[in-house]
Amino acid sequence: MKNQATRVRVAEIIRALSKEIPDSKIALKFSTPFELLIATILSAQCTDIKVNEVTRGLFKKYRSAKDYAEADLEELEEDIRPTGFYKNKAKSIRNGCRELIARFGGKVPRTLKELVTLPGVGRKTANVVLGNAFRIPGIAVDTHVHRVSRRIGLTKQDDPVKIEFDLMEIVPEEQWTLFSNLLIWHGRKICAARKPLCDLCVIRKWCDYGSKI
Ligand code: SF4
Repeated sequence: MKNQATRVRVAEIIRALSKEIPDSKIALKFSTPFELLIATILSAQCTDIKVNEVTRGLFKKYRSAKDYAEADLEELEEDIRPTGFYKNKAKSIRNGCRELIARFGGKVPRTLKELVTLPGVGRKTANVVLGNAFRIPGIAVDTHVHRVSRRIGLTKQDDPVKIEFDLMEIVPEEQWTLFSNLLIWHGRKICAARKPLCDLCVIRKWCDYGSKI
């Protein structure tokens, strides 16, 4: 168990980042949990801006799990090609939608346990969907949450699942989604991978890396 001081530090970090980033909602555009699931699968190794460009047309062409499940694979590949790794993504989406129909009546399940049984859906994707579409708390450990939480000193782990469990211990459950969204925005704007802008960082005093340099 992490100590009380770490929880207090986390509370300060959440307070400071929430002030800095009042609108920390996810950058992927969606209007249903199903659209968010598709967009999140497409966002692997791709920017949210590019995914949004692609989904603008994609969500008009494919409106339900059935549309993807019955899609011609090559045509679907072409439709999502700009997001990269399009062959794997197309296969995951088509097969995932077939399973959604066969096992969940075409509806996105509302539990992590069920979501991760779908092709192309890991814990990160599942937590993004749960937290942002269903308001069920989840910590999505993407590349930004991975890097920023390690730099701050909230975890020493390198494996995303272990990081998720470390963070679940020290962040209040009702703030899991908010916390990961805040770290994602902070990682994009300030705590960049190559050169973190520690001089401009509002959480520097609670950050192990920032307070050492
Ligand atoms: S102080 Fe630097 S390393 Fe720490 S969170 Fe801020 S930008 Fe990142």
